[in-house]
Amino acid sequence: MAKGIWVYAEQKNGQLKKVSLEILGAGRRLADQLGEELCAVLIGKEVAGLAGTLAEYGADKIYVAENDALENYTNDGYSQVLAGLAEEYQPMAILLGYTVLGRDLAARVAQRLGTGLCTDCTGVDLEDGQIIFTRPIYAGKAFVRAACPEARPICATFRPNVLTAAQPQPGRAAEVVMVDARPKDIRQIIKEVVCQVSSRPELTEADIIVSGGRGMKSAENFKILEELADVLGAAVGASRAAVDAGYAPHSMQVGQTGKTVSPVLYIACGISGAIQHLAGMGSSKVIVAINKDPEANIFKVADYGIVGDLFEVVPLLTREFKKLLG
Ligand code: FAD
Repeated sequence: MAKGIWVYAEQKNGQLKKVSLEILGAGRRLADQLGEELCAVLIGKEVAGLAGTLAEYGADKIYVAENDALENYTNDGYSQVLAGLAEEYQPMAILLGYTVLGRDLAARVAQRLGTGLCTDCTGVDLEDGQIIFTRPIYAGKAFVRAACPEARPICATFRPNVLTAAQPQPGRAAEVVMVDARPKDIRQIIKEVVCQVSSRPELTEADIIVSGGRGMKSAENFKILEELADVLGAAVGASRAAVDAGYAPHSMQVGQTGKTVSPVLYIACGISGAIQHLAGMGSSKVIVAINKDPEANIFKVADYGIVGDLFEVVPLLTREFKKLLG
C-alpha cells in the first residue's frame, strides 16, 4: 500500500534549489489533505546539514543518501538511489523540480520504477481522492488536469517560481533517516565541472528577467539589457533568434527549446512573441513588452506594452530605476 508524499530536494554545491522549497509547500498541503507524511529526499556528499531547512519548510521525514560517488549529479547514481528508496518505502508520489537536473532524473526514476510521469506541472491538488496535476499544453494556451490512478508512485516535475513555499517554521523538527547509499556501475564519469560565474541570479530562479530578441541587433547591444538587469537584480534571457544570431549563448535561451521561466516580472525587449517563446515565459506573473511594432504578438500576452525603440526606452528605464532604487 503506497504511502507518503515525497519531494526530491535538489541541491547544488550544498545550496537547496528554491523550487524544492516551493514543491515542499505544495507537497505539505497535499499530504495534509491525504492525511499522509511529507518526506524529502536529499542526495549528495555531505548534504545532511540541509535537513534542518527542509524540516522548517514542512518535511516530516528526510531521507539522506550520502556517498562520495554522489558528490556530482549523475543520472545513473542518483536514479539508482531515488528509485531504490522508492522501491523500499513505496511512496504515493515523487515530486521534483522541472529543472535541467530534475527533468533528467524524473524520467529515469519513472522508467526504473515502471510508473507514470507528469512533466512541467504548475499545480497539484486532490479531487475525489485522486491526485490531480495541472500542466500547460499547446505552449501555454490551455491547461490539462491529469491523473494517473494506476501508477504508484506517480512522478511529477514542477515549473520553478509557480508554487508557493510555506512560511518556514524555525526550529521545526523532523525525523532524519540516514540511508546506506552505494550506487554501482555509474557509467557517467564527471572529469571536470566548469561553472559559469555570474553575479546575476540563475535564469530559472530569477524573480525578474530582462530578455532580448532579434531586435537587439548585436551581442554588443545586450549590454543595455545587462545594465537594466543589474539595477533590478535581474537575470538576462534571450529569444532563440537572438541565440541563433550569436547575440547570446544558448544557456540564456527562453522558450520551447530553451529554458522555462516563471518570474514575477518579465521584460521582453525586441521580441515578437512567437508561440515557441511564449511557451517558456507565458506563466510569468507580469509581462512588459518593448517593441516598435504595435502589432507584435507579444502585446497580446503583455500586461504592459511600450511601443517604441528599445534603444531609447531601455536606457531611459535604467536611468529611472537607478533613481528610484538608488
Ligand atoms: P523576431 O520574430 O524577428 O522579432 C524581433 C522583434 O523585434 C520584432 O517584433 C520587431 O518589431 C522588434 N524590433 C526590432 N527592432 C526593434 C527596436 N529597435 N526596438 C523595439 N523593437 C524592435 N524561439 C524562442 O524564443 N525560444 C525557443 O525556445 C524557440 N524554440 C523553437 C522551437 C522550434 C521547433 C521552432 C520551429 C522555433 C522555435 N523558436 C524559439 C523560434 C520562434 O519561432 C521565433 O522564430 C523566435 O522566437 C523569434 O525571436 P524574436 O522574437 O527575437 O525575433
